[in-house]
Amino acid sequence: LTVLGIESSCDDTAAAVLRGRQVLSSVVLGQTSLHANFGGVVPEIAARAHAEKLDGVVRQALDEAGSNTGDIDAIAVTAGPGLIGGVVSGVMLAKGLAAALDVPLFGVNHLAGHALTPRLTDAVGYPYLMLLVSGGHCQFLLVSGPDDFRRLGGTIDDAPGEAFDKVARLIGLPQPGGPSIEAAAKRGVAQRFALPRPLLDRDGCDMSFSGLKTATLRTRDKVIAEKGGLTEQDQADLSAGFQAAVADVLQEKCRRALVASGTVTALCVAGGVAANQTIRAALETVSDDNDIPFVAPPLALCTDNAAMIAYAAIEQMQNRAPDGMDLSARPRMPLDTTSQSMLGSGK
Ligand code: ATP
Ligand code: FE
Repeated sequence: LTVLGIESSCDDTAAAVLRGRQVLSSVVLGQTSLHANFGGVVPEIAARAHAEKLDGVVRQALDEAGSNTGDIDAIAVTAGPGLIGGVVSGVMLAKGLAAALDVPLFGVNHLAGHALTPRLTDAVGYPYLMLLVSGGHCQFLLVSGPDDFRRLGGTIDDAPGEAFDKVARLIGLPQPGGPSIEAAAKRGVAQRFALPRPLLDRDGCDMSFSGLKTATLRTRDKVIAEKGGLTEQDQADLSAGFQAAVADVLQEKCRRALVASGTVTALCVAGGVAANQTIRAALETVSDDNDIPFVAPPLALCTDNAAMIAYAAIEQMQNRAPDGMDLSARPRMPLDTTSQSMLGSGK
């Protein structure tokens, strides 16, 4: 079974061809340079870039896979959640291709794509705990089947990646903030500044990173007031302190999420923040203590891509019918409709 996947929900235009678990091609065209001057993704610019680039990216994915359209047995596309302009472009193209090729169409939840990736890369068995931690998301999901996700908790404000990016900007380090803070933190002393570990006093797996960001900002202001500016060592110490606080929060909440999950086969992480070595080490301690493997898919499949969308459709098509031409693009699309937690972004 050969599936073409299409992803355009944020700032990456992506297409991939999968034959079962085999990734024949995975093309990701980023838009970072288009948004660089604006301090964030500009929806209108993103939408236009997706509309312009999608067909070329799909063509390239087919070429790199050595496939032509006649080899495609099904089309999978991100139907949400995300920036609506991009999602609409992807869904429209997918509908057109499905109709023209007379193959079934599957709309996929972007988060299901992330959450099922450990099965694509490492054949992890159900149920497993997934921590999705990126620039836009932060949540614990108990994954018990291709369409069975239970949200155990998540951030009630910023996602950690977003906080890394903002803190980097505040202390004068380049974007994206995650890698530059990680690099600076290597030369820093985490204990120099006392930064908070928000929500650790509260039960459950919900998290908060906005107060930590503000506390880091206040600490920066105090240093500047005392010394008239930030030295490289100040930047490094602030970076190390902030990173340690994020790692502590994720570690402790992960412990609680594992208790809430019951027996699971693995602790899995996905999302750009999972690239951070300090955070990884903190999470690995938890999986070691629980005697389960720690699974982090390779970064190219951890961040936004279309291979995960094609793969999610491959898993889900066993127990669901294809979507019709009325498939809609949805800016919001909760994964877990049974979730009791009304907190969080719902993204
Ligand atoms: P989403 O895919 O959830 O919509 P996104 O596109 O922002 O959001 P990713 O591409 O998965 O998410 O991750 C990007 C984020 O990861 C950025 O905020 C970046 O700062 C962060 N990040 C990348 N590398 C690191 C690192 N080494 N340490 C911490 N954060 C990192
Ligand atoms: Fe994503």
